[in-house]
Amino acid sequence: MRVAVFGAGYAGVPLVRQLEQTLPPGDEIVVFDDSPVHVVRHEIHRVVRRPAIAEDIAVPFTDLFDRAEVRQERLADIDHEAEEATLDDGTTVEYDAAAVCTGVETEFYGLPGVREHATPLRTIAHAERIREEFLPLAEADEGEVIVGGAGLSGIQVAGELAALAREEGAEGVTIRLLEQADTVAPGFPTDIQGPLREELEARDVVVETGRTVTEADADTVSLADGTEHDYDQLVWTGGVRGTDVTDGERPVVRSTLQLGDRTFAVGDAARVIDEDGQAAPATAHTAVRQGPVAAENIARLLAHDRSGGDGFEPRLERYNYDQLGWLVSVGDGAVAKVGPTVLRGAAAYAVKSSVGAGYLTSVGAVTRAVDLVREEFGLAAGE
Ligand SMILES: Cc1cc2nc3c(=O)[nH]c(=O)nc-3n(C[C@H](O)[C@H](O)[C@H](O)COP(=O)(O)OP(=O)(O)OC[C@H]3O[C@@H](n4cnc5c(N)ncnc54)[C@H](O)[C@@H]3O)c2cc1C
Repeated sequence: MRVAVFGAGYAGVPLVRQLEQTLPPGDEIVVFDDSPVHVVRHEIHRVVRRPAIAEDIAVPFTDLFDRAEVRQERLADIDHEAEEATLDDGTTVEYDAAAVCTGVETEFYGLPGVREHATPLRTIAHAERIREEFLPLAEADEGEVIVGGAGLSGIQVAGELAALAREEGAEGVTIRLLEQADTVAPGFPTDIQGPLREELEARDVVVETGRTVTEADADTVSLADGTEHDYDQLVWTGGVRGTDVTDGERPVVRSTLQLGDRTFAVGDAARVIDEDGQAAPATAHTAVRQGPVAAENIARLLAHDRSGGDGFEPRLERYNYDQLGWLVSVGDGAVAKVGPTVLRGAAAYAVKSSVGAGYLTSVGAVTRAVDLVREEFGLAAGE
């Protein structure tokens, strides 16, 4: 039987690793990803300040998988009723079970000029571009950087830029974070929103909430209240949307993660409503936990199909959203929420910094985990 997995990010990698363990040797596991490497995406903002981290967080798939075949191809469309996918080059892929784990892309909401003039932050190349755009401003020690959108990406990139400005002695550069909602980190626990704003402001990030970007040209950002801001660099972290595979939507799936009978949608690519009716947020934390649930369900369904079936579908595993905690970095600081306790300062930063390394270790990329910790803490080899 053939299982096709489209996208090997935080959702796809644990899913494939579990399938490798559980499916009989004769079953084929084929992974289609448009990237040649697995990207540890929730660390990419760090590349803005520590470019060497780029190497540690781009992991070749051969380091992660034993038996899965990986093809660098892009999924264009999936028909879960026909159990058939179409790749960008028009090739058709038939499957017995599949998982769509293609994540999301940046949403520009059709705001005039924003896509054209802003740099988003979804890839390592974006982070490198943000650094390249920023360094001349730091060298001149003047300029205005606008970051549009204060979700996890916006907060973390603003924090990195502020820390980079400090390291470069560029006190004349302003980092301004604009957010449409009346708080930073909208949609996240209310008790981390205040501390996050304070951590940003302590690093001289100018935080403006209730400020809606309506358009941009090469020099100016316009806001809904009729005001304008001149800028030298524009970073856009204002939202995400589903990929073209799902027509820009993030389809709703229930707790079994099924998009169709034998087709699953996992991680950011889907809006997952858990058993208690709770919507899981689009985070690495949830994607990593959903992957194994989908893998288990695929294994059960294929075992059922292989046995000829008895007319009854097997009982399927259900995903239950359970957030162990929250961790958001702000330059060299961080805010962590563990249970009801909110931590800040060095303790929170140490926890946050170990998360990327912990994730790499969990998927078997131990050497890279060690390298990441070294880069993070500026340690020389052997320390
Ligand atoms: C700057 C930044 C900071 C973040 N910080 C945090 C954080 O602190 N904590 C947290 O929990 N989350 C954070 N996130 C969110 C987290 O990275 C995502 O929730 C997580 O990556 C979702 O995993 P995923 O597997 O669904 O998607 P991804 O990890 O994005 O993986 C999708 C995979 O699919 C591939 N792909 C995409 N389209 C196609 C296609 N058409 N065909 C084939 N392959 C395709 C991609 O190349 C990629 O390998 C952050 C995100 C960013 C950008």
